[in-house]
Amino acid sequence: MGLLDRGIEIKTPDQIDGMRRAGLVVGQTLELLRDSVRAGISTGELDAIAEDNIRSSGATPSFLGYHGFPGSICASVNDEVVHGIPGDRVLADGDVISIDCGAIVAGWHGDAAITVAVGAVPPEVTELMRVTEEAMWRGIAAAHLGGRVTDISHAVERHVRGAGRYGILEDYTGHGIGSEMHQPPNVPNFGRPGKGPKLVEGLALAVEPMVTLGTKETTLLEDDWTVVTDDGSWAAHVEHTFTLTPQGTWVLTALDGGEAALSALGVPFGGR
Ligand code: MG
Ligand code: MG
Repeated sequence: MGLLDRGIEIKTPDQIDGMRRAGLVVGQTLELLRDSVRAGISTGELDAIAEDNIRSSGATPSFLGYHGFPGSICASVNDEVVHGIPGDRVLADGDVISIDCGAIVAGWHGDAAITVAVGAVPPEVTELMRVTEEAMWRGIAAAHLGGRVTDISHAVERHVRGAGRYGILEDYTGHGIGSEMHQPPNVPNFGRPGKGPKLVEGLALAVEPMVTLGTKETTLLEDDWTVVTDDGSWAAHVEHTFTLTPQGTWVLTALDGGEAALSALGVPFGGR
């Protein structure tokens, strides 16, 4: 382990299995929320659905109380990029919502996010969602044992830049995850490959591109949580937690472990 690796938590296979249990709760909760999103539902109602599902699965919502955060999900609508507080806001046809969710099982964390259209959205928003999701998978697919953290960053940026004129947030990043939700190292969504800590077995990372139709510059609202774009452009945010095993890549928050998306990109599946 070099200096770059300071503070990085390396999990045993048993501990990774614990993270898979947390990841499945997160993945199942997000699928439930995807099916629940509709015009007329409030973000607070989505939050209640999430908390119920997490607790009835024997898990604990990791966001609730995190630095005082009042919800079990982050619900970020339209020009809100991340960290929106769920509440009275009612979704309308044509909105786009990013839902971020975390759960803890026996001390191990999972963290993932989806972006969902409410009814019909403009084609450029559909495209933004597609590009952001693809970029996340490209980033995960770029990770392999012996590689470096910014191999992921580079693959995310390259895919987004190749798809059009989008903003990529630089002030917020993916992260290490394990016995805490946010751990070293940071996983930026831009940069040159081949830098940062080495990718080793037992490392778990959350990859989460935050992409806008306009600027990368954002402002924190007075609620001290909600991050909005400076130009009002709409944003998408998706996230998965993954790890590397000797067999390949295992996406701990994907219901199928990421097998379908990874095999489409020619990446060996490393799940158990
Ligand atoms: Mg998250
Ligand atoms: Mg995260």
